[in-house]
Amino acid sequence: MAHGTTPTAAPAPRILGHRAGMVAAAFPSKRDPGAEYIAVCVAGRAECSCAGFRYRRECKHTEALKLIAAELGRADRDISAPPASQTRRLA
Ligand SMILES: [Zn+2]
Repeated sequence: MAHGTTPTAAPAPRILGHRAGMVAAAFPSKRDPGAEYIAVCVAGRAECSCAGFRYRRECKHTEALKLIAAELGRADRDISAPPASQTRRLA
């Protein structure tokens, strides 16, 4: 097992694309080999296509993606979104 930069158990995502304030990534499914979950983070708010996110409105993919978004956002920050920690309210 390689040790990566993410503290979660999520598998390494494939970044599909990113621009200021927005990141999309595909996470390989552990349960269903060959399947991928698509997670999108916009201005600190993340959504995922996995079942866990549908039930709980959060999952390890969105957590991992927010970290990735924060890393990428450090390079080009033209958004003024607050950190995700204060925006926990459900839609
Ligand atoms: Zn997910």
